[in-house]
Amino acid sequence: MNPDNRADIGARALHILQTVFGYPAFRGQQADIVEHVASGGDALVLMPTGGGKSLCYQIPALLRDGVGVVISPLIALMQDQVDALAEVGVRAAFLNSTQTFEETLRIERLVRSGEIDLVYVAPERLMTPRCLELFEAARISLFAIDEAHCVSQWGHDFRPEYIRLSILHERFPNVPRIALTATADGQTRAEIAHRLQLEEARQFVSSFDRPNIRYSIVEKTNGRKQLLDFITSEHAQDSGIVYCLSRKKVEETADFLVENGLRALPYHAGMEHGVRAANQARFLREDNIIMVATIAFGMGIDKPDVRFVCHLDLPKSIEGYYQETGRGGRDGLPASAWMAYGLQDVVLQRRMIDESEADDGFKRVLSMKLDAMLGLCETLSCRRMRLLDYFGERSGPCGNCDTCLIPPVSFDGTVPMQKLLSCIYRVDQRFAAGHVIDVLRGVQSERISQWHHDKLTVYGVGADRTEQEWRAILRQGIALGLVTVDHDAFSSLKLTDLARPVLKGEQKVQLRQYQKPVKPKRQSSSRVSYEEVELSRSEQQIFDRLRSWRMGAAREHGVPAYVVFQDATLREIAKVKPTSLDQLRGVSGVGEKKLVSYGDEIVAIIGEMM
Ligand code: ADP
Ligand code: ZN
Repeated sequence: MNPDNRADIGARALHILQTVFGYPAFRGQQADIVEHVASGGDALVLMPTGGGKSLCYQIPALLRDGVGVVISPLIALMQDQVDALAEVGVRAAFLNSTQTFEETLRIERLVRSGEIDLVYVAPERLMTPRCLELFEAARISLFAIDEAHCVSQWGHDFRPEYIRLSILHERFPNVPRIALTATADGQTRAEIAHRLQLEEARQFVSSFDRPNIRYSIVEKTNGRKQLLDFITSEHAQDSGIVYCLSRKKVEETADFLVENGLRALPYHAGMEHGVRAANQARFLREDNIIMVATIAFGMGIDKPDVRFVCHLDLPKSIEGYYQETGRGGRDGLPASAWMAYGLQDVVLQRRMIDESEADDGFKRVLSMKLDAMLGLCETLSCRRMRLLDYFGERSGPCGNCDTCLIPPVSFDGTVPMQKLLSCIYRVDQRFAAGHVIDVLRGVQSERISQWHHDKLTVYGVGADRTEQEWRAILRQGIALGLVTVDHDAFSSLKLTDLARPVLKGEQKVQLRQYQKPVKPKRQSSSRVSYEEVELSRSEQQIFDRLRSWRMGAAREHGVPAYVVFQDATLREIAKVKPTSLDQLRGVSGVGEKKLVSYGDEIVAIIGEMM
């Protein structure tokens, strides 16, 4: 392709971005990706959740002749994706098992005659002879393989049907393919390229930073109560997700939030399908719902205005944690990632690894992932630096995480760590955390006298610290790999080889001081690299009015509220206060179709309120 053509494609792509989607400019690598795929190139795109992957295949599909095929594992979400495209005037449809036969025939006709721009299919559907023949008979502009990490056997979202997608290359050698994922690590990337035969494809790797998300990790004392305080003080009117480890805890936590006046719904794989689907639909459609869920929830949920993602239990890995927290703030407005974590979490996760059926090699991998997660929890430096570093990206302190906003105090913890280690040793490495800490603190109990632990030299040597402080020290001992929790029935504490140099005084340890939780102040740093438009009082009133109008419009059109307009767009409208369609056209997120559908109503609302 010669450079003139490329420039031409670029100009046409920008025109579509502005008139159809209503956005003034491409973000990050979007423009390069769109040009590359529109010119017929294969691509492998790694972009964080919320980075803007959809446009990378939607716009090339509109630029090229024929129908773009989007392969997505998530049948339940196809309707919303297609509805959102219809709202901006793009002709899209899906083929899946929820349809009647007549409906299928109708869509197939549209594909054959090229009367639609995009068709969504699940991989198992695509592999049917009927579907492959349909696509061979039609003109296909591109294949987009969404959630491409599902091809990775090591990942937590593995889908066997994805492996067979390599045949696309053989059956449609001239159709460009673009695979997209938000999973960052190099191993998964290599696996995608290999299994989908995309070794030759150009790779586009974006920064994984999500500067608008504020990370904070607090010490767990009473998890649920802390969660409630966090939500009511910082996100009282917002949509959010709360992740819990078990189904039971999901239900209990949802009940607890509801009892305390919040609009929370449970979601986990053990629920009846209909109820689960209804809860998901409400979360997507309505404003201000809190979804309390296991990690079964979230893939492909592209609700842009999720303002907080909380973890009440320690995630198993940084990959999982980053993907889950990444579901907050896709619209670029400020969002929180909040986690409460305690010693019990470490014990539980360690035990789950030990008791799993996996072979030793795999257990070691799981263990290393957990260690990295603990390192993040106990870090004395910027959380974001730690996270990005894990994905191989270098950065400086971010100014928008808890450790940047309120730097933790560190101290030379060699002596207390020695006390802890020798106490574990003195009780023969046969007792759990609670008992060890009681001995250190010189607590009197039946158990202690029964075992004559009050006669030990270590008895009471740690009376100067609270139980909470000792738990923090022990947690860090585990994170540093000095102590392990045995998987016997007692969760007894054991020393590792790394403990020896510390006990002998050959190695010092720097520890994080236990701090009573305090609330970080609002944004203070100038390093924060996204814009939040503060609204004045009257603008806030306009915004609130627009939001309630949006609720009605969404119901009328049968689509989620954010499909009508996103919060970011309504905020900008409240700022700009457009009194004509021409002024409204300039607002980001207002394309031609939406201008026609909603422009008059919005201009009228602004007129009334001025
Ligand atoms: P991903 O699939 O990578 O998680 P999406 O494609 O859902 O992300 O996009 C995330 C959000 O960013 C969406 O709300 C989308 O409308 C918005 N967006 C994407 N590209 C742009 C752009 N160039 N300008 C403004 N907003 C954009
Ligand atoms: Zn930071």
